[in-house]
Amino acid sequence: MEIKREPLSDFRVRQLQARDMLRGDLEPEELERYAEEAVMTTTVDRAVAWARGNSFFPLTFGLACCAIEMISLVGMRTDIARFGWEAFRATPRQADLIILSGRVSIKMAPVIRRIYDQMLEPKWAISMGACCSSMGVFNNYSLVPADKFMPIDVHVPGCPPRPEALIHGILRLRDMVQGHAPDGWRERYDAVGTEEVLPEADTETAAINVYQPGDTAGA
Ligand code: SF4
Repeated sequence: MEIKREPLSDFRVRQLQARDMLRGDLEPEELERYAEEAVMTTTVDRAVAWARGNSFFPLTFGLACCAIEMISLVGMRTDIARFGWEAFRATPRQADLIILSGRVSIKMAPVIRRIYDQMLEPKWAISMGACCSSMGVFNNYSLVPADKFMPIDVHVPGCPPRPEALIHGILRLRDMVQGHAPDGWRERYDAVGTEEVLPEADTETAAINVYQPGDTAGA
């Protein structure tokens, strides 16, 4: 009868290495090699950043034609669930990302800014499409770029950007989060909110883009 010897699978080899290690039978060099292969060390900050970058809760929010491309992200073709970003939330208080997908009119800007202010830190924003970033193809006095009234972390160019382009922007944002960008937008951009710049007495006459606390106009 012929006896055929098969090589042990990787899994079995690792199992035996683990047993030897527990018994204290591994030589120092083997133990070192085993530790390099089997043990991963990290810090709490890195683990939190890794989890945060892979579990965004975007706000259910669309502005114009770009929104249709954004909505298709959750479909099976692009399937944003691969990156853990598919849980769109219906309230800003549960969302940590707003994707501005479409044209922003001057009338809409304070509403968007209020929604952004209602999101809890750390929060992030993507400007999707030419309109939102630069007013796009429109030579129109009623539109405003998003950077004029709120901090934007990633701009996705195009008219409209394809869902793949938005995914590229999303992955850039993930790199930013996992690269330990400061959590608060004020530290991130060395900026202050408009409401912190304008003295209380000037709000009657000055052009403001953020409503004062308690003012429900435009809500
Ligand atoms: S960038 Fe193009 S697709 Fe997007 S909102 Fe503007 S006109 Fe529409």
